[in-house]
Amino acid sequence: MNSIWWRLLTVLGSVGSVGAALAYFQGWGLGLGFLVAALLALWLRDQRHLSALERWADLDRKAALPPASGPWDHIFAKLYRQSRESERQHAALTDALVSFRRAAQALPDGVVMLNDTSQILWCNGQAEQHFNLKLETDAGQSVTNLLRAPDFLSYLASGEWDLPVELRMRLGGQGGDRILSVQLVEYGNAQRLLLSRDITKIERLETMRRDFVANVSHELKTPLTVLAGFLETIREVKLPARQQEHYLALMSEQAERMQRLVADLLTLSALEADRGPSAESIDMSALCARVEAAAAELSKGRHALSFTADRDVNLLGSETEIASALTNLVTNAIRYTPDGGKIRVDWSRVEIGGSVYAQFAVVDTGIGIEAHHLPRLTERFYRVDRGRSRGSGGTGLGLAIVKHVMTRHQGRLEITSTMGSGSRFAALFPAARIIGRQALAQREIERRDAA
Ligand code: ADP
Repeated sequence: MNSIWWRLLTVLGSVGSVGAALAYFQGWGLGLGFLVAALLALWLRDQRHLSALERWADLDRKAALPPASGPWDHIFAKLYRQSRESERQHAALTDALVSFRRAAQALPDGVVMLNDTSQILWCNGQAEQHFNLKLETDAGQSVTNLLRAPDFLSYLASGEWDLPVELRMRLGGQGGDRILSVQLVEYGNAQRLLLSRDITKIERLETMRRDFVANVSHELKTPLTVLAGFLETIREVKLPARQQEHYLALMSEQAERMQRLVADLLTLSALEADRGPSAESIDMSALCARVEAAAAELSKGRHALSFTADRDVNLLGSETEIASALTNLVTNAIRYTPDGGKIRVDWSRVEIGGSVYAQFAVVDTGIGIEAHHLPRLTERFYRVDRGRSRGSGGTGLGLAIVKHVMTRHQGRLEITSTMGSGSRFAALFPAARIIGRQALAQREIERRDAA
C-alpha cells in the first residue's frame, strides 16, 4: 500500500480515535459532532487543493504549485517535479529540432519532408527555390498539387526510388531552364524525404563537352575525307603528272590544316591542365619585334603594317603563352583585312577607369564583325564566316586560346568592330604584371647569375 493510503488511514484513524474518545467520555452527541466537523474540514481542505490543482493545470504549469498540507503536499511536490522534467525534455527536443532545421537549411540541396500521403510537412530554403514553394502557405498541401511535372508524377507513382529522376523546371524571365536531380527516400513510419539537387551547371558542361567532341570530329572529318578521296583517285586512276602534282598539293594543304587543328587543341588542353602561368620577366619590345616579323612574313607586303612598343612596359608571365596570344591577334588582323588595308599595333601603358593596364592593341581596316557576334567570338570553333576562316587557314580556336591566356594572366580581351571598316582587339594586362625597363634588366642579371 502506498504512502497516500497510509497517510489517509492514519488521519482517519486519528479522527476516529478522537471521536470515539469524545463519545466515550463526553457522550455520543459530542463524539459524532466532532467526527462530522473533522470530516467536513478534511473535505474542504481537499476541495481547496483540488481547485488549486485545477487552476495550475489550466493556467500556469510553469509556476510552482501553491503550498499544500497533508497528503496533498506530497502529490503537489511530485507533480511539480514531473512538470519540470517534462519541461526540460521539451526544451531539449525543441533545441534538437531547431538545430536539425538549421542543419537542413544549411544544406546545399533541397529537402522536403512528406508524410505517407505525400503532404508537405516541412522544407528548407533550397527546396523552396528549386520547386518554387512557400513553406508558410504550402505546408499541408499534397506535393502532387504543387509539382505537376509529368516525369515527377510518374516517378512518385512508380514507387521505385532507388535512382534519382531529372526534372527540367521552367524559370520565369530570362533565366532559362533549371535542371534538377530529384530523389525520394523513405524513412520512419512511411514518411518520405524529397531531395533535390541543382545540376544545371553540370548539364551545361556536359553539353559543352559533347558539342566540343562533335566539333573536333567534324573539323577532322572534312580534311580526312578530302585526303582519303584524293588518295583513292591517285591509286586508281593514272593521272597526268601535273594533275597529280595539283592533287598532292591539295592533300598537303589538308594535312597542314589537321596539324594546325591538333596543335591548337594541344595548346588549349595544356592551358587548361596547367595550374597557372610562370612569372618569367618578358622583354616585351623584343617579343613585339618577333610578332612584327611573323606578321610581315604572313602579309607578304599586302598590308601597311605599323608597330609601336613602349620599351618601359614589360611583363611578368608566361612568354610562350603571351607570344601565342598576341601573334594570334595580329595574324587574325592580317587574315581578315583585304589586301591594301592597314594594321596598326601598339604596346603601351594605359589608364582605364582609374586603373593602369599594359595594353596590346591591334587595329585593322578589315572586314569588321557584326555586333551580335562579338560576345561569342572567344567560344571554341565559333566563326563569323566558316568558309572565310577555313580558306585563310583558321581553326576557330585562336580567340579561345587568347581568352584563356588572358584569364590566366588576370587580364582581359576587349573587342570593338564596325562592319566594313575594321576591328580593334585589345589585350589588357593588370598593373601587377607590369615591370619597367630597369627591373627587367635587373631580373635578367639575376637570372644569368643563377644559371
Ligand atoms: P579563326 O581560326 O576562325 O580565325 P578565331 O578564334 O581566331 O578563329 O576567330 C574567330 C572568328 O572571329 C573568326 O572566324 C572571324 O570570323 C572573327 N575574327 C577574328 N579576328 C577578326 C578580325 N580582325 N576581323 C574580322 N573578324 C575577325
